[in-house]
Amino acid sequence: MKKIGLLGGMSWESTAVYYQQLNRICRERLGGLHSADLLLWSFNFSIIEQYQSQGDWDGVTKLLVDAARALEQGGAQCLLICTNTMHRMAPEVQSAIDIPLLHIADASAAAIKKAGVVSPLLLATRYTMEQDFYKGYLQQRHEVSVCIPDKNGRDLVHDIIYDELCRGIVLPESKRRYLDVIEQSKADGVIFGCTEVGLLLSADDVDLPVFDTTFLHAEAAIDFAL
Ligand code: GLU
Repeated sequence: MKKIGLLGGMSWESTAVYYQQLNRICRERLGGLHSADLLLWSFNFSIIEQYQSQGDWDGVTKLLVDAARALEQGGAQCLLICTNTMHRMAPEVQSAIDIPLLHIADASAAAIKKAGVVSPLLLATRYTMEQDFYKGYLQQRHEVSVCIPDKNGRDLVHDIIYDELCRGIVLPESKRRYLDVIEQSKADGVIFGCTEVGLLLSADDVDLPVFDTTFLHAEAAIDFAL
């Protein structure tokens, strides 16, 4: 089994889910007492969030590049960035290391295409919904066109991620608000495009096909590791 390096802590609420999913999928595939071979670098998310909100993407890229190199030196044989948003610097991270970076959007695109979904709604941070690094990657690499909520919907989805989910706060009224955003869209599927969204919503809550990036990313990593 290959050793999987994780850049986590963004936030740790979803890194904990990654940890469970990676180990659970590994046990399902191999049985017995098998669990995943992992190396985790967990950031203090308060620092990361300050860089993000100040728009200092170069500064935060350096943090991720240094951590990715350390994981490689520690023996990681592939790398996961355990957040959609921080895939903004995926090209810089990949070019700084010799092990493969398993891109979160590759895993999602494969599932979206398999399900025959053509216009999924992207629920994510404002950075992921509004900037091009994620939507553009899906479009150019995989010919998947996503739709995003209107301005009010984007603000609501973003604020609930940072003010609640990344702090471990899961509220029924926020779930209702997310479902309203989904109902207002004309999408034929929903991408949980932030690794914390699965803390609030599950596939059972939504009538459309759901693509939970945390789960799909973890599954792709185990596929690679085995
Ligand atoms: N984990 C989230 C994501 O998947 C948001 C937190 C972050 O900015 O990294 O985008």
